[in-house]
Amino acid sequence: MIIHKMGWPFKKVLYPSLTWSRSAKEKIIYLTFDDGPIPEITEFVLDTLLQKKVKATFFCVGDNVRKHPRVFQRVLEEGHGLGNHTFNHLNGWKTAFSEYVQNIDKCQAYLDPALNGRKWLFRPPYGRITKKQIRAVQQKGYEVIMWDVLSADFMKSLDKKNCLQKTVKYSEQGSIVVFHDNIKAFENMSYALPRYIDTFQAQGYKFGTLN
Ligand SMILES: [Zn+2]
Repeated sequence: MIIHKMGWPFKKVLYPSLTWSRSAKEKIIYLTFDDGPIPEITEFVLDTLLQKKVKATFFCVGDNVRKHPRVFQRVLEEGHGLGNHTFNHLNGWKTAFSEYVQNIDKCQAYLDPALNGRKWLFRPPYGRITKKQIRAVQQKGYEVIMWDVLSADFMKSLDKKNCLQKTVKYSEQGSIVVFHDNIKAFENMSYALPRYIDTFQAQGYKFGTLN
C-alpha cells in the first residue's frame, strides 16, 4: 500500500514550517523531479516539458550535477526551477548532523551560481530529515519543500496506469507533485508524465516553478 496523498493535516500540523503545497488562487500545479540530472532520463523529462510548454522544479543530486554538467545546463537554459537534494542523496535519519549539513553545502556550491539570487530550495532525500536538521537548513535560508502528491513512480510493483490514475486523482490546485528522473522510476514516469500534463492542461491548469 502506497500513500500517494500525504496524510495532511497530520503532516502540516507536525511539520508546519515545511512546504507541503502552495496556496493558489488560480489553477496551478507544481511539478517536481528528484534525483537527476542524468542523461536520457532527465532529457526525456526536459523534452516532454518543452513540447508541452511546461515549467517544473528539479531537485538535483549534487554529484549528478558534477557528472552531467550538460544536462544540468539544459535544465537552466530551459527556465526550470532548481533545488538542493544533497550531494550524495543522504538519508537524514542515518547521517550525522554535521555531515548532513556539509553535504547540502557541497551540493549548493554547484547550484548557487546558477540561481542568480533566486530562492534556495531544499528537499530531503526519502523525505527523511530530523527536526534539528530542519532548523539548520532553514537558518541557512532554504525553504524546505516536501509534497502533497507522490506519484510513487519508483515502485516497480505499481502498474504505470495506476501510477497515472492515482497521481491525477490526488492532485489539486496548488499541489506539489513528485516524480523522479532516475532509472528506477523511468518506466512509470515516462508513461505517466505526458498523460498527467495533458489531463490537467485540458482542464485549464498551468504549471509553475517553486523558486
Ligand atoms: Zn531522492
